[in-house]
Amino acid sequence: MAGGQQATDPQLMLAMAIQEARTGLAEGGIPIGAALFDGAGRVLGRGHNRRVQDGDPSMHAETTAFRQAGRQRSYQGTTMVTTLSPCWFCSGLVRQFSISRVVIGEARTFYGGHDWLRAHGVEIVLLDDQECVEMMTDFIAAHPALWNEDIGEVLPPSTGRSGSGGGWAGASVEGHRHERGGVVGDLVEDRCRLLRSHGVRLRLGGDHLA
Ligand SMILES: [Zn+2]
Repeated sequence: MAGGQQATDPQLMLAMAIQEARTGLAEGGIPIGAALFDGAGRVLGRGHNRRVQDGDPSMHAETTAFRQAGRQRSYQGTTMVTTLSPCWFCSGLVRQFSISRVVIGEARTFYGGHDWLRAHGVEIVLLDDQECVEMMTDFIAAHPALWNEDIGEVLPPSTGRSGSGGGWAGASVEGHRHERGGVVGDLVEDRCRLLRSHGVRLRLGGDHLA
């Protein structure tokens, strides 16, 4: 348990998730990190994706942090912070246990279920953090097969399914269009090119880029 550490500011919470992601990367794993905080900002549990380390595809960062927290009487007022938009599996966990808030590092490289969570009353804080975008795009470019395995993408779909957060399992670049001129936009554009050159299919909103 990560006793003694406390944070209520979303960016500080994210710093812990990023630390977890980097630990996972150093272990040869997928760099996604998460932590669960109680209402007072105390850490209940923290963890990172352990697909590679444990050979367990269900050990996503959020799930690992949740399990590390052990039994809690209630999840009211808790915050799950994660470096990447939560997949359907982890979004289901957030909803199942009525976790109140989700702080997300980025949703550009993967757009998960956070719109669905928001529609069901979960407070969503999307930080669009450049460090998180960079960490994931570098990883996806270096390990496209491992990434596709993690998101359950065996073969890219030949035709696009429209709508964000609709369960499309490829890398997405949500928000890319309106930030094309910005620093993050340039970064994303660069990484998109790199990803495509590695055979990763990308989607811009509802349009496929690849
Ligand atoms: Zn997940």
